[in-house]
Amino acid sequence: MHGGGQGFESPQLHKKIALLFSEACELFLPFLMAKTKVGPTWIDKAKIRLKKTLGMNIFLCDSCKWNWRSACHYPERPNAVWCPDYQKKGK
Ligand code: SF4
Repeated sequence: MHGGGQGFESPQLHKKIALLFSEACELFLPFLMAKTKVGPTWIDKAKIRLKKTLGMNIFLCDSCKWNWRSACHYPERPNAVWCPDYQKKGK
């Protein structure tokens, strides 16, 4: 038996752990989301390879609404084949 009533089965302890977990998620979620934009995933790479094989245009900047010197500061412009900020023109 637990003497103090604060054992591992305590609902208050579960609440505290859940609260800490949700706070940690809130803290690290933006970082994790940003980490996903670091580079293309294997699916993106496969899509680019397939487009290249089919002879399609693989450059995104041609159809991107940020394709302006003052709007886009990526060094890959105007020949980016993958971009985290790509948005199709006219949307
Ligand atoms: S945001 Fe990306 S896709 Fe759009 S112009 Fe800049 S580099 Fe190209």
